Amino acid sequence: MVLPITSKVNSKGHLEIGGCDAVELVKEHGTPLFVMDEETIRGQCRAYMGAFAGKTDDFEVIYASKAFISVAMCRLVQEEGLSLDVMSGGELYTAIKAGFPVAKAFFHGNNKTPAELNLALEHGVGRIVVDGFHELELLDKIAAEKGMSQDILLRITPGIKPQTHNFIQTGQLDSKFGFGLQDGLAMSAVKKALTLGNINLKGIHAHIGSQIFELGSFAKAIEIIMGFVRDIKEETGFVVGELNTGGGLGIKYKAVDEPSTIEEYASVIVDGVKEQAAHFGIPVPRIMVEPGRSIVANAGITLYTVGTIKDIPGIRTYVSVDGGMSDNLRPMLYGAVYEALLANRVDDEAHALVTVAGKHCESGDILVRDTMLPYPKAGDILCTPATGAYGYMMANNYNRQPRPPVVMVKAGSARVIVRGETLDDLVRLDTGLQ
Ligand SMILES: *Cc1c(COP(=O)(O)O)cnc(C)c1O
Repeated sequence: MVLPITSKVNSKGHLEIGGCDAVELVKEHGTPLFVMDEETIRGQCRAYMGAFAGKTDDFEVIYASKAFISVAMCRLVQEEGLSLDVMSGGELYTAIKAGFPVAKAFFHGNNKTPAELNLALEHGVGRIVVDGFHELELLDKIAAEKGMSQDILLRITPGIKPQTHNFIQTGQLDSKFGFGLQDGLAMSAVKKALTLGNINLKGIHAHIGSQIFELGSFAKAIEIIMGFVRDIKEETGFVVGELNTGGGLGIKYKAVDEPSTIEEYASVIVDGVKEQAAHFGIPVPRIMVEPGRSIVANAGITLYTVGTIKDIPGIRTYVSVDGGMSDNLRPMLYGAVYEALLANRVDDEAHALVTVAGKHCESGDILVRDTMLPYPKAGDILCTPATGAYGYMMANNYNRQPRPPVVMVKAGSARVIVRGETLDDLVRLDTGLQ
């Protein structure tokens, strides 16, 4: 699956998603346009819930909202019975506004501010995932001021490097995130947390990275973490009741990608934890996972209108679209590779080798390098699949480009779940307006 599960080509040769013709969506909402397929998102949520329920009674699937969050998305996640992971006061605020039960929220981040921690405690966030000693003390102090005790997990870095882009590896010792295992800081953090009066240590968290294809990395991390859980019990007597193994399951951005399935992933996680618990003679903790990308990435597509086409004979044909790094930063940030198709003539033969460029004032603003398309013309609707995760969330206003709307499609109807910005929105924070 690269395109959403409801995708097909209709009788006009147009791409259709969630029963909606992409060309009609563009007529109504313009371009660039993010389209999210509700059935795909719900299907992925259910696949996760089903896969884990099939392996254990004691688990929690936590949607990592930084992949894509909006009020509508929070409601959908709540309906599907998942918990929510937030990384900032802004994500938390969105969940609060959506009426999401924040007792089922996990608050992450390597430098949560006092204001963010206050907001979290005031609204009764279920777990704070504490990332450093400064935060441990700060949180204890804030909880004391409020006369409460806050449940926490401690984020540790197990010291492994999964096969993925350097920028999205997070489990190595040399990381800004968490307490290192090898340098002994993780054990010190556990001991410290156990002495603090307004903190209630529930368990351990580790997130080793993102877009991981090799499930062996998760198995290896679990082996290391469960060894640590045993050490904690031996050194302090504390029994870890919750183990959050983070997110990171890879997805298919291109037809040739072969990520593991959610079922395979659930087996590796649950079997791994159970086997290691037996091996170390410790109880099996509640198992928590935090998928983000694999819930929403393939549910989303972006639609653009083709404009300028620059053919440099013998060198390259640049096909420029009306968005770019402002709505999809990943190609520039990580060299992420996407595919493209023409949504208004999907079946036409793809015989032109082109490079799809954005409209921004950066030569690096390239969305798709060297891809085969039917020879594009101005006015064609170009679609990049698999933009549902870390697309809209990284959208920005470079060159004062308004951020596009997001529509959610289902059974032939499309509803705007995030409005597009207007030119007035772009100046709304500027002072000096008449
Ligand atoms: C980003 C992140 C996730 C989600 O990762 P995906 O690769 O999108 O599944 C989960 N947990 C934490 C702590 C993260 O930072």
